[in-house]
Amino acid sequence: MLKIENLSAEIDGKTILNGISLEVPAGEIHAVMGPNGSGKSTLSYVLAGREGYEVTGGSATFHGQDLLALDPEERAAAGLFLAFQYPVELPGVGNANFLRTALNAIRKTRGEPELDAMQFLKIARERMKALSMPEDMLKRGVNVGFSGGEKKRNEVLQMALLRPQLAILDETDSGLDIDALKIVADGVNAQRAPDFSALIITHYQRLLDYIIPDRVHVLVKGRIVKSGGPELAHALEKEGYASVQEAA
Ligand code: ADP
Ligand code: MG
Ligand code: MG
Repeated sequence: MLKIENLSAEIDGKTILNGISLEVPAGEIHAVMGPNGSGKSTLSYVLAGREGYEVTGGSATFHGQDLLALDPEERAAAGLFLAFQYPVELPGVGNANFLRTALNAIRKTRGEPELDAMQFLKIARERMKALSMPEDMLKRGVNVGFSGGEKKRNEVLQMALLRPQLAILDETDSGLDIDALKIVADGVNAQRAPDFSALIITHYQRLLDYIIPDRVHVLVKGRIVKSGGPELAHALEKEGYASVQEAA
């Protein structure tokens, strides 16, 4: 599904990603863990195609397609979904309209008919119930005045509506209390399917108590220094990043 080979990237001439290789097969959930400043968010931004990040080497393919050659909208249309550590607020843009526009854009690329406002509301309400989201969050501006937990739920709602093939979640757990964490995890687990993959980027192990990853990769100084099963996350939680940092 996702294949990253020897990927290097820089910001403002500063090398941040230093030859990352990583493969996420269809149906699997992988975690990328690492200390602060190791390049986790940079990896998600590079995969998203955010401006200002220059790829200096290597490749990233999605279903065999050169991901890095696509613009951000094309990446979304290809089935990629990204949730960021700091979701943007869009005052004046109603959340319902925002979500419906995003969903209809994806449906169009899949050859599915557009949903009108009523059809959309019916689906959105169903999904929101599952995420314990109050309905008035549809009426408000995108993320405006949302608490940290509400922003994360809104991202998971977006994901549940768009049904991407690959979801990349960057520190979706930061700022969440344990109840919100479980709701977010349930939202991700509900997507588990043979044609769904996810890359869960996190500093802490606790989210991985609720989303059990198939593989865990440790990123230090822009390189994967270690990969293993879910037990690797537990070992890191216990021992901290010091041991892997020395190895880097
Ligand atoms: P993480 O998400 O693992 O905490 P980041 O990807 O946010 O790490 O950052 C990796 C490194 O890149 C850090 O040293 C950070 O200071 C640097 N960095 C991030 N964004 C920029 C930027 N816009 N300009 C210069 N350096 C940056
Ligand atoms: Mg950070
Ligand atoms: Mg980060």
